[in-house]
Amino acid sequence: MSRKHNFSAGPCILPSEVFEKASQSVIDLDNSGLSILEISHRSPAFVEIMEKARQLALKHLGLENQGYQALFLQGGASMQFIMNAFNLLENKAAYLDTGSWSTKAIKEARILGDVEVVASSKDKNFNFIPKDFTVPSDADYFHCTSNNTIFGTQMKSFPDTGNVPMICDMSSDIFSRQMDFSKFDLIYAGAQKNMGPAGATLVVVKEDILGKVSRQIPSMLNYQTMISKDSMFNTPPVFSVYVSMLTLEWLERNGGISAIEKKNQAKADLIYSEIDRNPLFKGFAEQEDRSMMNATFTLNEESLKDKFDSLWKAAEINGVSGHRSVGGYRASMYNALPLESVQVLVNVMKELENQA
Ligand SMILES: *Cc1c(COP(=O)(O)O)cnc(C)c1O
Repeated sequence: MSRKHNFSAGPCILPSEVFEKASQSVIDLDNSGLSILEISHRSPAFVEIMEKARQLALKHLGLENQGYQALFLQGGASMQFIMNAFNLLENKAAYLDTGSWSTKAIKEARILGDVEVVASSKDKNFNFIPKDFTVPSDADYFHCTSNNTIFGTQMKSFPDTGNVPMICDMSSDIFSRQMDFSKFDLIYAGAQKNMGPAGATLVVVKEDILGKVSRQIPSMLNYQTMISKDSMFNTPPVFSVYVSMLTLEWLERNGGISAIEKKNQAKADLIYSEIDRNPLFKGFAEQEDRSMMNATFTLNEESLKDKFDSLWKAAEINGVSGHRSVGGYRASMYNALPLESVQVLVNVMKELENQA
């Protein structure tokens, strides 16, 4: 089987070692005589998998023994939009509006309380990250999106929110770059962009921010229920948690976040230097806010679209068409994407220039 160069925005590429181990385990999990798809979530084998996944997530983020809990939940990152508010919004929350996902998070939070949008880049189709804003000190929490998957922008710095808890949707750049994760009180990420197959959502929450709202919280939406049941209040997404654990182990074997960040930087440098050099292309996001994970770009001449599309398809490239709200192209370069794949795409861009 020859593999494609997969630039899909999500679900997306995972390490080939992970695909291999996961496929063996579908037949027989570690010589147990049972498939990962048929074991009980209460079996010692799966309890160990869940514990390992939760422990590795905290370890990679440098958040062990600091009052944080790692949970694997369901409903995707989108469920977190309302779950954040259910657990933490009493009066007013502050949100930074940097793209479609932030906008959706704001819409959900407004169901349960007041939302103050501290800044928005909507008037420029979200091609930059607003930097001049203040977080009101009376907000129950501040919410931001570290990487805007659709628009290809990424926050390079985060505000100091004082006593206001900071929540971050890190769906599309978690485990991709080093930062001080202890600045955040709640981090969440759908598995399907840097960690595993769709189905599980990682939530890392500082326990002392919970239990402060007056409303009744449905059990399935209550972080405290999920913590007290070790992410097993109901049947967890067993396969997604298992593959996430395999990816987190792969990351550990490969030097953790600091090592992968160097590789991600090299991939980003390669694509952006070609976007800036090649007269046929133009980057979408403001340079200083460019995402290391999702590079968005357009053709200067729409008439070259068919030619370019047939070139990258012939080069066994998959998933570079842009999101409909930006158009053009988007190269998603998550942790598991090799530098060679980016080089293939860059070669195709040069080839277009030579033929045009
Ligand atoms: C993909 C994505 C989401 C939505 O994730 P689901 O798991 O599909 O709900 C939310 N936020 C960001 C930043 C994303 O990239």
